[in-house]
Amino acid sequence: MALSRRKLMLMGLGAGAVVGVPAVRHLSWGGQNFERAGFSDPLPDAPSGEVRWTNWSGIQTSTPQQIFVPKTDEGLAEHIANTTGQIRPVGSGHSFTGLVPTEDVIVDLGRMNGIRDYDLDKKIVTVGAGTRLRVLAKELSKLGLGLKNMPDVDVQTLGGSFNTATHGAGLTLTAIHDYVIGFKMVTAEGDILTVTEESNSDLFAAGKVGLGALGVITEYTLQVESAFKLHKRLSIMPVEDILDMTLDAAQTHYGFEWFYLPGTGQGAVLSYDRTDEPIRRQAVNKDEEIEMMMGLKEARDKLGWAPSIRRRVINKALPKGVIEDQIDESWRLLSTTRPIKFNEMEYHIPIEHAKDAMREVIKRLDARKEIFFPIEIRFVAQDTAWLSPFNHGPSISIAVHAYHDEDYDYLFTDFEPYYKKLNGRPHWGKLHSLGAKELRALYPRFNDFNALRRSLDPNGRFLNAHLEKIFLDEKSV
Ligand SMILES: Cc1cc2nc3c(=O)[nH]c(=O)nc-3n(C[C@H](O)[C@H](O)[C@H](O)COP(=O)(O)OP(=O)(O)OC[C@H]3O[C@@H](n4cnc5c(N)ncnc54)[C@H](O)[C@@H]3O)c2cc1C
Repeated sequence: MALSRRKLMLMGLGAGAVVGVPAVRHLSWGGQNFERAGFSDPLPDAPSGEVRWTNWSGIQTSTPQQIFVPKTDEGLAEHIANTTGQIRPVGSGHSFTGLVPTEDVIVDLGRMNGIRDYDLDKKIVTVGAGTRLRVLAKELSKLGLGLKNMPDVDVQTLGGSFNTATHGAGLTLTAIHDYVIGFKMVTAEGDILTVTEESNSDLFAAGKVGLGALGVITEYTLQVESAFKLHKRLSIMPVEDILDMTLDAAQTHYGFEWFYLPGTGQGAVLSYDRTDEPIRRQAVNKDEEIEMMMGLKEARDKLGWAPSIRRRVINKALPKGVIEDQIDESWRLLSTTRPIKFNEMEYHIPIEHAKDAMREVIKRLDARKEIFFPIEIRFVAQDTAWLSPFNHGPSISIAVHAYHDEDYDYLFTDFEPYYKKLNGRPHWGKLHSLGAKELRALYPRFNDFNALRRSLDPNGRFLNAHLEKIFLDEKSV
């Protein structure tokens, strides 16, 4: 997106923009501190003899006694059977919630990766659970195969993304755990289970989105597709136009999502359509996203106190209309990189509330003048996993972000209470405050999941503080 700091300066972010506005307001805003309390980057080393683990955004940390990196199912099973204490599986650490931290043992599936078997006729592949999505997508493409959809980044592992119900964008496209047709799991007792719908329908429905609370999954069998191409378009449009067309566009396009640029009245719309036309690549400058984000941040820093001037300045600098238009293999277009770190809350809300929810969230966002990170709005189809946030029907997913070293209290004070009123369900990997009581009310199979979890892991070895809050209350202990 070609909005740069330089362009903003040219459009008046400098001294010219503030003429005629009371200096006192400017000065008091200039004194605002957006820093997150306790933020320190880089984090200190772990005490001697221990290792330090941190998630991608830096808000989850722990100093486990060991990060165990198994090579085989048997090696992992033996390790679990012969040790005591907590065990938490980890993928690529891209969750914002405290799903992984433990002071005991983190199990990293990084060495259990790659395609192990495939059937080209049935389009079925068996893959190590530590495989990253990008690696899988690339390997599939060599076989003439592809994933139906992908999230907006592709560095996550299969184990990590399936276990939190990671999703892409598309009203007719389910979250990616729905491609699972079987998996292998090592349990707290050190058993190695092979699970399919036919062999164990309950564990199959629970284990697809299991938060790493049922056991360590070492291998997945997936239903994939023939490789296909997509036509991607990215346009900048006034938010009122986007709100008018969103629900229709979500139904018409293969994939559809949009971002609102806080305080601007403008949004960026992304659509994806399947095509057989030849590949037509457009060079995209990877530094542009950093430039744009820094431009939006600077506009916030300097003009956050004067919303109408901030809006005018950014609007002048923003390009309008279609700014990206290309055709490529699906996996090359569906995921990008996120070079700027952030923290995030995303709730999945029943689609019938979509219109009201989009307007209300934008209103709340613009009322918080310090927010400059774009929000992301997507649609996801229904599936049947017991803890899938999408098992009640099609959903709109709304994600609000905060710059990584800044406060994000507003996610909990200004947005989460509203989502709760709409029976929204949180993304398991993104910030939320819900515990067992609230989750039980949201998920019809919550008690069944918990009973299965207890039967597989009676001593709670796969629980940490975050998961205790999710699974344990007076009704479940
Ligand atoms: C920049 C960025 C972009 C993102 N984009 C999207 C997006 O587009 N859509 C979306 O839905 N989400 C998105 N997310 C969220 C992310 O996809 C999820 O949090 C996902 O779980 C991260 O995968 P991971 O491999 O890093 O797993 P981790 O965060 O390491 O682990 C996640 C959970 O899976 C469990 N787990 C990991 N491996 C296994 C295993 N082998 N067996 C059992 N349990 C296991 C862990 O114990 C933990 O509970 C994004 C996050 C970031 C930071």
